[in-house]
Amino acid sequence: MNHLKVVVIGAGMGGLTTGIALQQAGYTVEIYDRVSELRPAGAAISLWSNGVKVLNRLGLGDEIASIGGIMDRMAYYSYTGENLNDFSLYPLIERVGQRPYPVARASLQHMLLQAFGQEKVQLGAKCVGVEQDADSVTAFFEDGRQATGDVLVAADGTHSILRPYVLGHPLDRSYVGYVNWNGLVPASEDLAPKTSWVIYVGEHKRASLMPIADDQFYFFFDVPMPKEQAQEAGEIRAELEHFFSGWAAPVQTLIQRLEPEKTNRVLIHDIEPLQTLVKGRVALLGDSGHGTAPDLGQGGSQAIEAAYVLANCLTTTNNSVADALKRYEAERKDRVADIITRARKRADMIHGKDPEKTQKWYEDLKYDDGAETIDGIAKTILGGPLR
Ligand SMILES: Cc1cc2nc3c(=O)[nH]c(=O)nc-3n(C[C@H](O)[C@H](O)[C@H](O)COP(=O)(O)OP(=O)(O)OC[C@H]3O[C@@H](n4cnc5c(N)ncnc54)[C@H](O)[C@@H]3O)c2cc1C
Repeated sequence: MNHLKVVVIGAGMGGLTTGIALQQAGYTVEIYDRVSELRPAGAAISLWSNGVKVLNRLGLGDEIASIGGIMDRMAYYSYTGENLNDFSLYPLIERVGQRPYPVARASLQHMLLQAFGQEKVQLGAKCVGVEQDADSVTAFFEDGRQATGDVLVAADGTHSILRPYVLGHPLDRSYVGYVNWNGLVPASEDLAPKTSWVIYVGEHKRASLMPIADDQFYFFFDVPMPKEQAQEAGEIRAELEHFFSGWAAPVQTLIQRLEPEKTNRVLIHDIEPLQTLVKGRVALLGDSGHGTAPDLGQGGSQAIEAAYVLANCLTTTNNSVADALKRYEAERKDRVADIITRARKRADMIHGKDPEKTQKWYEDLKYDDGAETIDGIAKTILGGPLR
């Protein structure tokens, strides 16, 4: 369809990538975000090759390569410091045709904003409702503003206020059962090799270090705990010293070196797979429609994939907007349901939901020369729209 006007709610990864893709198709795009200053929540992400391929397709290949970290190997250690395995990621890169990029969220958001056009993002615009008729759709904002277009993309994140509108009922997020702490530290060899993703596992917890650009590591810690306990946040360093007492020397060094005031503490939630992602002219995209546990590292890439598929459906068919969005829904819902379900299963396995399974995983890691891990990651990547 030609010359559509698209209103996007949310300037996260999903909203901005949608804006870039639809603008390239010649559409008029307006993005609205409730915040007065765009600052990403969280420190960094691993952008796996399926997400990177979409950015390449949108002409951002050089940009993402320049802000991405070089991650050549992956290694697991037991919490006491025993090396369980250590393998090259080149077989993965060769199989899928593109290296993944661990990337600081601030750099990724800056890159996407520049590509879309910062001046076209309207800030301080909290969407509070939406109405549509046969000809158009209108978003209403808290301050009285309105925005009308042919399509409305609800990329308003995990707490989406437009999700109940699309579904026709409210839907609570589910607590996945663990707390995640994450942040950035200067890369240094006493923590981990500078081009390896290193993960310590034990006691149903994890501590991880991943290389991003500019000589920095993205770190995270995971600890399973009941929701009531998770809601009572303590002082960050003291909490980590407590939960990771007795863990290997690099984990202790990391805990002492991180900056508590710049460390995020997140209760991990997901959203059960949805059968409905669209209503008429309104489409859910990204965490609003498919919030997943981060245990496959795929939430951001799914938002980026969704932007690409949505743009394809709108630009390559011309029955009607509602018909194009239905095609988007049909193409995306099984893909994201599979990611959500597998991420939840992996979260359970990593965090000791069935302690015997977790113990078996620890044992199996000793015999994984990389083939099994790489096979799993490759299948996830190759399930995306750009193979
Ligand atoms: C601990 C953790 C680790 C993760 N690690 C990875 C990883 O390694 N790899 C990966 O790919 N993904 C990862 N993810 C998932 C990833 O962060 C999300 O999937 C991704 O940010 C979703 O993007 P989005 O654009 O849908 O939503 P968001 O990035 O949340 O953006 C939503 C935007 O909408 C705005 N907004 C919300 N409500 C309104 C409103 N009413 N009106 C106007 N604007 C509104 C918000 O201000 C925000 O800017 C991780 C998530 C967590 C929690």
